[in-house]
Amino acid sequence: MTKWVWKLLFKPQCLWSRWVQNYVLKGRDIWSATATISQSWYWNNVVRMKDLLLDLTGNAGQALLMLESCSPQLKYSTAMYYNALRTRHDTVTWAPLVHGKGCHPKHSFTGVLLMHNTLPTTDQLVSRGIVMVNRCSLCKFQVEDLHHNFFSCGYSTKVLSIIANWLVINVGFTELQEVIQTFLSLRLSRKQQAGFMAMVYYIWKERNDRIFKGICTTPEMLCFKIRSHVNLRLFSS
Ligand SMILES: [Zn+2]
Repeated sequence: MTKWVWKLLFKPQCLWSRWVQNYVLKGRDIWSATATISQSWYWNNVVRMKDLLLDLTGNAGQALLMLESCSPQLKYSTAMYYNALRTRHDTVTWAPLVHGKGCHPKHSFTGVLLMHNTLPTTDQLVSRGIVMVNRCSLCKFQVEDLHHNFFSCGYSTKVLSIIANWLVINVGFTELQEVIQTFLSLRLSRKQQAGFMAMVYYIWKERNDRIFKGICTTPEMLCFKIRSHVNLRLFSS
C-alpha cells in the first residue's frame, strides 16, 4: 500500500498517478486526503497507510525523506521500507545455536519459543485457566513445565542421551542456560546444531502428538526419526 503513496509522490506522470490526481484527489495533495465511505476500499487503505506513515515519521517532510531513502534510483523497495520501519533488538547470545545453517526453519522456530520460554507447556495453560490438570504427557507421572519437558522427564532424558551420543557431545543436558553456554563454547558442527534443534522439535512434537492425536512413539523410534531427518537434510544440502 505504501508503494502507491510513493508512486503518487515520485511518479506523478504515470497513468495511475494522473488518474488519482484528476478524479480522486482533484487538486489536493495526498497528505491531506482522508478515508471516506464514498471512496473504494483500496483507495481508503492507501490513505490509511499514508496516515500511518505520518504517525511514524511525525510530518510530511520526514515521511517524504523516508520514502525517498527506500527508493534508490527511483525504484521502490519494499524490503528497504520494511527495514526502515522495523524495530531492531540486540542479537541474543543463543542466535547462532538456534539459527545454525543446517537447522530446519520449523525446528529453529520451536527453538526460539523454547529460548523465550513461550512454548505453551501445561503449567502455563493451567495458570491461564485453559486446562485444570497438569500431568506430563510423556512420562504421565510428573507435572509438566519447560524444564521438565526437555531436561528432566524420563522420556526426554533418554532421547537426550541417545542423541548426545550420536552427536558426540559429551556434556549433560540439565538446564537450558547451561546447554546454551556449553554449546556456544563448543563451536558445534552443522550436524550437531541441526541435531540439537531437531531433537527439541521432535520432543515437543511427540508431546503434542500424544495429547492431540493419541499417538505414542518410543524414545528409540523418535531418535531414529531425528537422525533420519538431520541426515537427509544435511545430505540434500
Ligand atoms: Zn515427564
